Amino acid sequence: MIDFQSILTTINEAASKEKNKGKIADYIPELAKVDVNNFGIHLIDNKQQNYSAGNSDERFSIQSISKVLSLSMALGLIGEKIWTRVDVEPSGDPFNHLSLLELENGIPRNPLINPGAIVIADILVSQLENPKEEFLAFVQDIANDDSIRYDVDVANSEKRTGFRNFAAANLLKSYGNLKNDVDVVLDFYFHQCSLSMSCAQLTNTFFMFMNHGKCRRNNIFLTVTQVKRINAIMLTCGFYDEAGEFAFEVGLPGKSGVGGGIVALLPNKFCVATWSPGLNPKGNSKLGMLALEKLTTETELSIF
Ligand code: GLN
Repeated sequence: MIDFQSILTTINEAASKEKNKGKIADYIPELAKVDVNNFGIHLIDNKQQNYSAGNSDERFSIQSISKVLSLSMALGLIGEKIWTRVDVEPSGDPFNHLSLLELENGIPRNPLINPGAIVIADILVSQLENPKEEFLAFVQDIANDDSIRYDVDVANSEKRTGFRNFAAANLLKSYGNLKNDVDVVLDFYFHQCSLSMSCAQLTNTFFMFMNHGKCRRNNIFLTVTQVKRINAIMLTCGFYDEAGEFAFEVGLPGKSGVGGGIVALLPNKFCVATWSPGLNPKGNSKLGMLALEKLTTETELSIF
């Protein structure tokens, strides 16, 4: 029997001693207010046993991690048609790069880079009557947690400084791959990214990706095939131009966000989330990646 608790405790101790904790994202001014010394980790196993260490109950901005949730909702609503508007290839580029979008005629490389997630946001805006309310309700439902909220200050902060996202949305519009108003789509996208959750809440939400599409209460949100596809996209595209490195070091499908969160999972075994707001030069949580590398090395559990 693996002693997850003692491994998480050791990981937390090592993180608190680490001198270089990375750099907090400040291109969204509201994110820069967070203390770089925060570290949290939470793991839920297939029997719904929970293990945690550090600030695992403190909420932070999940940012790009939300792209997996918007993709899941859109896939549930329109099915495979989604792949006519966004591809499933890794980009090898930073999350906010626009060059490939132009080269490939407005079809984003995958749904987990910004232009791809903006197309998914457009699909949700088209499909839903009250997009922000209904998306939040979807996430609360998966997590079985009504206390999950948007952080409106973070959303407004990004609205004021998200120039590259405005550029991406306008480029998509020029190629006819955005059906709704740029401002309306980005208002939804900035809110989606501003969802505030703790490591524990993230593992509750992502439990279904390790459990064949069924949430902790056994309700079905995605088919087995859809979960397979989303986990594959997380593995190949979840860490931008560091997806290869994450597969190499950690060996799990996962997703990061510039708020310093990472969620990762081993199908049928466990789901884990880390939070450490300092980022490495590629925009992924520095200590989060180290922590997950330790976890899969110590437990000898990875998809490989
Ligand atoms: N909202 C952020 C952006 O669009 C999300 C980026 C991220 O977490 N990598 O720039």
